[in-house]
Amino acid sequence: MRWAFIFLSFLFFAFQSCQQKETMKKIPVYGWVSGPGEATDAELMEQFAGLKAKGIDGLMYNGGQDPATYARVGKLVKEAGMEFHAWIPTMVQTMKPGLDSSWYGVNGKGESALTHPAYVDYYKFLCPNYEGVYQFLSNMYTSVAKVDEIDGVHLDYIRFPDVILARGLWDKYGLVMDREYPEYDYCYCDKCVSDFKEKSGIDIREVEDPSTVQEWKQFRYDLITNLVNRLVEDVHKTGKEINAAVFPGPNSVAKKIVRQEWDKWKLDAFYPMNYNDFYLKGPEWVGDVTKEGVEAINDRVPIYSGLFICPRPEKKGSEKDPENHGLLPEEIGTAIQASMDNGAAGICLFTPGRMTDAHWEAFEKAIWVEDKPN
Ligand SMILES: [Zn+2]
Repeated sequence: MRWAFIFLSFLFFAFQSCQQKETMKKIPVYGWVSGPGEATDAELMEQFAGLKAKGIDGLMYNGGQDPATYARVGKLVKEAGMEFHAWIPTMVQTMKPGLDSSWYGVNGKGESALTHPAYVDYYKFLCPNYEGVYQFLSNMYTSVAKVDEIDGVHLDYIRFPDVILARGLWDKYGLVMDREYPEYDYCYCDKCVSDFKEKSGIDIREVEDPSTVQEWKQFRYDLITNLVNRLVEDVHKTGKEINAAVFPGPNSVAKKIVRQEWDKWKLDAFYPMNYNDFYLKGPEWVGDVTKEGVEAINDRVPIYSGLFICPRPEKKGSEKDPENHGLLPEEIGTAIQASMDNGAAGICLFTPGRMTDAHWEAFEKAIWVEDKPN
């Protein structure tokens, strides 16, 4: 009798949990992942199957610029049942065949980003105003997009260098960025200066505080917007999607600090990096910037809210480097719910590899939502 009771109880709970999953649906989840390094196919397959089992639906995969790498890795990602997007930086490029040293951005002091990069050595930003830069990027992205296994290409660093750093980074670089300073302000190359003069009549090199000239800001927003929209046309001709990682906003952050007027970009999806800790904000702020983005693009394409994960939660309090900050296990649920409540189509993790067991546990609870009929 007792056994029968236990068995019946088990049946009841099994039925109840089935019913629960029926009325619940999982939100779409992407992850930014880099590789493959020296990993074998078997090792990659194990990694991808593990991510799929945890609830990841697609990867933004950073594997260099060689289409052959994406063909190899993409086959395995597809076998694991996930979407596959090639995540390749756009304006940040080392010198390589197809590029010219004169095509790099120039700051307000006349220094090239190739020889005098701002903040960190890899900040070698190209100038978006050269036809050769567009040609290089178009060839690179379309040759990767043509790989059968690719669903889309994912632009990153599609912007100017940070003219103002996010508030959470000032201490790391020992800077007070209370206004725009010429050493971080781009692009004052000869071509940009003369094109702007022709357009506006203003010689921007003669202006004492260029940050007060609205047309000069707009000129640079437009350079990035035009480049993106040309790449959209080229990638769409291959039948694939094109999307991008962008700064939060666009108005509250992205336009002001990296000159991304991304509501004018004709992309298929946006992945705003809603990394609250970089702005010294809590997880609820993720909802505010998600709402701003969804409204700015009139909800015409999906926005996947990018979440920055703290890799060592027990050390966050004593950790000085903001790169090691991010959402704690007890915060990730709030960030996910705030994103979804404010119109996100899903989320994207930076990165699945930084997630601890406690993060995954909280994540599993947060990714199942009530399946509302449309
Ligand atoms: Zn320029």
